[in-house]
Amino acid sequence: MKVLKFGGTSVGSAQNIKKVIAILQKESLSSPIVCVVSAVGGITDKLLEAGELAKQKNKSYITVFEKIKTIHFKVIEGLTNNPKSILKEVDATFENLKQLLNGIYLINELSPKTSDKLVSYGELLSSFIIAKVMEDLNLNTVLKNSQELIVTNTNFTKAEVNYDITNKNIIDYFNKANQLITILPGFVAKSQSGETTTLGRGGSDFTAAIIAAALKVEQLEIWTDVSGMYTTNPKLVKQAYPIANLSYQEAMELSHFGAKVLYPPTVQPVLNLAIPIHIKNTLHPEAFGTVISNHKKENHLTVKGISHIDNVALLTLEGSGMVGIPGFSKRLFETLANEKINIIFITQASSEHSICFGIDVNNAEQAEQAINNAFEYEISLHKINPIIVEKDLSIIALIGDNMKSHQGISGKLFSTLGKNNINVRAIAQGASEKNISAVINQSDVKKALNCLHERFFEVNTKQLNVFITGIGNVGEKLIDQIKQQHNFLKKNLKLDVKIVGMSNSRKMIFNPNGIDLNNWTEPFHHADKSSIEGFYQKVIELNLRNSIFVDVTANKDVASVYKNYLKQSVAVVACNKIACSDTFANYKNLQDLSLKYNAPFLYETNVGAGLPIINTLNNLVASGDKVISIQAVLSGSLNFVFNNFSDKKNFHDTVKQAQFEGYTEPDPRIDLSGIDVARKILILARENGIPMEIEDITNDSFLTEANLNSDSVDDFYDTLINDEAHFQKLYASAKANKCQLKYVAEYKNGKAKVGLQEVPEGHPFYNLEGKDNIVMFYTQRYPEQPLIVKGAGAGADVTASGLFADIIRIGNK
Ligand code: ADP
Ligand code: ASP
Ligand code: MG
Repeated sequence: MKVLKFGGTSVGSAQNIKKVIAILQKESLSSPIVCVVSAVGGITDKLLEAGELAKQKNKSYITVFEKIKTIHFKVIEGLTNNPKSILKEVDATFENLKQLLNGIYLINELSPKTSDKLVSYGELLSSFIIAKVMEDLNLNTVLKNSQELIVTNTNFTKAEVNYDITNKNIIDYFNKANQLITILPGFVAKSQSGETTTLGRGGSDFTAAIIAAALKVEQLEIWTDVSGMYTTNPKLVKQAYPIANLSYQEAMELSHFGAKVLYPPTVQPVLNLAIPIHIKNTLHPEAFGTVISNHKKENHLTVKGISHIDNVALLTLEGSGMVGIPGFSKRLFETLANEKINIIFITQASSEHSICFGIDVNNAEQAEQAINNAFEYEISLHKINPIIVEKDLSIIALIGDNMKSHQGISGKLFSTLGKNNINVRAIAQGASEKNISAVINQSDVKKALNCLHERFFEVNTKQLNVFITGIGNVGEKLIDQIKQQHNFLKKNLKLDVKIVGMSNSRKMIFNPNGIDLNNWTEPFHHADKSSIEGFYQKVIELNLRNSIFVDVTANKDVASVYKNYLKQSVAVVACNKIACSDTFANYKNLQDLSLKYNAPFLYETNVGAGLPIINTLNNLVASGDKVISIQAVLSGSLNFVFNNFSDKKNFHDTVKQAQFEGYTEPDPRIDLSGIDVARKILILARENGIPMEIEDITNDSFLTEANLNSDSVDDFYDTLINDEAHFQKLYASAKANKCQLKYVAEYKNGKAKVGLQEVPEGHPFYNLEGKDNIVMFYTQRYPEQPLIVKGAGAGADVTASGLFADIIRIGNK
């Protein structure tokens, strides 16, 4: 014999009930079966809602009542061609329900006892309808009201079972019954004096377990809307998957800590009899599901699942008067027990200076009052403080039988939460070491479950959530590169790079599941108006693990928000060099925030676009080498200008061409004045550990006073024409000395300078072409032959690939 229980969704529509009937028909071929059913999905909530409204003298309870009725009628009509006889009987039941609600309305009161009477209609109706339909189909079926079998105390809304009477009732009844299929309502029971009671929300699972244990059946099956007990709540973590096998203890811990798929008391009755519980999916009967039993199955995972409980309040009782005095905890917990308040979580500081415990937030005020009353005397003497109550919290728990024999699990738990900026308010480890739990803010739950799931169950892939500001030339190239490399990175580096947000100065779009990179331009075009603050707020609100903010602008205001991102543990990648070349104090502050909040801050593209210059310098410094000097050509635009300028092509036209071909800033003075190069050598000096400011850099400009003092870009170009003779003189001198003009940046002994130099033949800079950059590091390990990095130092493609490399580096951390 088998007991099967079908939950709310399984009996939530005519279509699903047909699936249930098909399963029952198939299963009853081999042996008689007992089938426990829940109320039609959502009906228990609606009954309670109607009751609450009636109690508040709100007439709209009638609307809710009508809705409940319509749902049932629709189910009946969808199940049979001849609904009349069923509808007639059900109509009478609805009349009784209406009268009950009307009574609540009149007396303005809804006691727990009346509430149980009210919700019992859900299961009584569903079981009646299903049994009737099956009888009409000539299936060998009988309906038995479980209230005639299960006897409880009068702890209404969550009554305790009297097993002696109940087991006898069940055994006696089934000894005589000879139907193949027996349908029973779940959840409902009766007290010894005949009042309706219920077994607690979700209690139909428990009804089935009680019957399974009394009859010592071979298997208890819980049929629901998911394919088993998952590694974590599948509604919150897309990557969660069903766990094939669990021990009773693991299942109990998981359900106790919030895995709603199994009502926690369900395990108790079947545990000692070693009756396996099989969780199955009514909507996908072919899926294996989860088997809960004593059989140890090989499983390489130490953590079997992660659960969570929302709506938790944390209460802390503390004070010097508690130290060493026995009996405080006893009084505290007795007070809570007297108030019938269930404690979910306890942790005590080893100094005994404080006790902290978690309860359902709905009980918080009651608990606060009761405890403050109980300790009134000690509080008045200032031996202990009035109890502290914190709300909006959740508990997350890692569960697994084998956790005790593995070190480092709490380490992984806390480092993962820490890295993702999730604050842990309290921790507890069950003495059995099958469970480690932590209290966190409720708003962090989804992120916590996702990153812990990734850490413990998807060891293979790490998801990076990228937010790009600055969708221009470089930004678009970066998007293309990420799209193109997505599968490669997933397969080879186990990185799943998702672009979750994009913005330019006008628009911004987000998709927490990742923007479709094959089709983003159209939605982006119609997107919301953007703002720097609005973008930041959205990144924080989404609160995704491994978030990376990428700045592809040259905007000062965007650079000013890096600190906010880092403080929220969001990594920052930037090609914008304003932040790193701002005051040293600001640069240092960002480095400190990055360390403090464990949020990488990478800006390889600040110097030489995609060339690995900063990274090379960082590696030299980190490995103990000492930089003696740095010599470099760091401006692609200036290199282009001096490679093209000659006695045959005037300076004005050469600069114009450079601008036209996109090698200069919109204001070419930023390049030609040497400011841009000065910023780059400043960043290299700082990366080498020197606290330098931009004013400390000697900038011998090759421009004339008139060029430098020009009021506008046009004015600047005019002065270039006027001063052509000055530039020709520079060219002629270099030519006479058989040299090339190069704009060089130098760093040595804590000092830096930038300026135009005549570079002789044979020097590594002499033949530097086009817009290339070159950097030579002279160090203790490379004293004579410098370490040279050379290549294209400007351009959208190489800048995008430098940004991409920084993103990947964060992923590999
Ligand atoms: P039923 O109505 O069949 O009793 P429930 O709603 O009580 O179904 O339980 C199933 C639901 O439990 C799932 O739809 C899912 O949202 C939730 N759930 C929470 N945690 C888990 C988990 N770890 N595994 C599976 N389901 C879970
Ligand atoms: N119908 C009840 C509830 O919603 C019992 C159950 O479905 O298990 O809580
Ligand atoms: Mg349930």
